[in-house]
Amino acid sequence: MAQELWQQSLQDAVTSVDQLVGSFAFDPRPLAVAEARYPMRITPYYLGLIEQVGDPIWKQCVPDLHELTEDGLSDPLAEEDNSPVPAIIHRYPDRVIFYVSGSCASYCRFCTRKRKVGCADMALSFRELREGIDYIAADSQIRDVIFSGGDPLLLPDPVLQDLLARVYAIPHVEMIRIGTRVPVTLPERITDRLCAMLKKFQPLYLNTHFNHPRELTEQAAEACARLADAGIVLGNQTVLLRGVNDQPEIISVLFRGLLKMRVRPYYLHQMDLTRGTGHFRTSVKTGLKIIHSLRGSVSGLASPQYIIDLPGGKGKVPLVPEYAKKRGDILLIRAADGSVVEYPDLSS
Ligand SMILES: *Cc1c(COP(=O)(O)O)cnc(C)c1O
Ligand code: SF4
Repeated sequence: MAQELWQQSLQDAVTSVDQLVGSFAFDPRPLAVAEARYPMRITPYYLGLIEQVGDPIWKQCVPDLHELTEDGLSDPLAEEDNSPVPAIIHRYPDRVIFYVSGSCASYCRFCTRKRKVGCADMALSFRELREGIDYIAADSQIRDVIFSGGDPLLLPDPVLQDLLARVYAIPHVEMIRIGTRVPVTLPERITDRLCAMLKKFQPLYLNTHFNHPRELTEQAAEACARLADAGIVLGNQTVLLRGVNDQPEIISVLFRGLLKMRVRPYYLHQMDLTRGTGHFRTSVKTGLKIIHSLRGSVSGLASPQYIIDLPGGKGKVPLVPEYAKKRGDILLIRAADGSVVEYPDLSS
């Protein structure tokens, strides 16, 4: 089959800081050390969103010396401990992550799976994918299969179609989700042919990963529209990133913009304790302040849950600002405007 446009874009991607020297004024030498440690890839499209050195797009995709800081943990979510076979992460009884791809269109510097994503030996073999499917088939408690990686949409259409068909052929699987950053970094991947193929697998949920309003371009909006028109339910997981999006105004513009693109903000993630990403971490207080500011000021549909994924594989927990205090049978609840309202509660 002839190479598709998006595959050509991947071949044209920037994979070393030296390639940025002609376009931007910066010293590549120190960054080359970080690039050698964790792989770099930036698609031509995403590169085109960078306006200047150090802006919110640059920070997300260009290697940085801070990545060499030996803080945090290699596998903060203890995914390896919950991995019965290489392609599966099984932490909750009813759902699994199916690790179908080891690479992404662009490598995010803050990635939780930095330890493995983009490393050459992390591509899954056909046998490992089959083992993953056999594992899902053997456990009738599994209802919800999350295609993840890496980016599942970097698989060629026929491979992806084959995996979706095999998983949906398992009687106890009720739904499939795809986690992908392709609408953000490689929107040309969302072709009509891909959408026509995905449309055959319902219900299909797709969570993408926009972090900044500058990523909400016309091309990205068109990619999301094609997916939505194919009946795919779109959600978004944003990571709260210091110096990128850690301000209420940026987040509210982002979430309102996503809703206009028919993408529902699903989670706002507190940064995991991943080694080499500490410079992106904000305090939980910052996240709570942002969540509080959304309440009452934007549509409830634009208010996702603020999630912390606990270290050691203890799972995701939503964090909420403290709205209510109990005084005897009275709940004192803080309204969005800051006033405190008494609510007579039952004692049990
Ligand atoms: C995040 C995650 C899920 C999905 O969690 P939801 O809250 O249902 O979106 C499933 N398995 C693992 C291991 C996860 O980390
Ligand atoms: S797209 Fe997702 S998996 Fe890939 S580098 Fe970015 S955060 Fe990590």
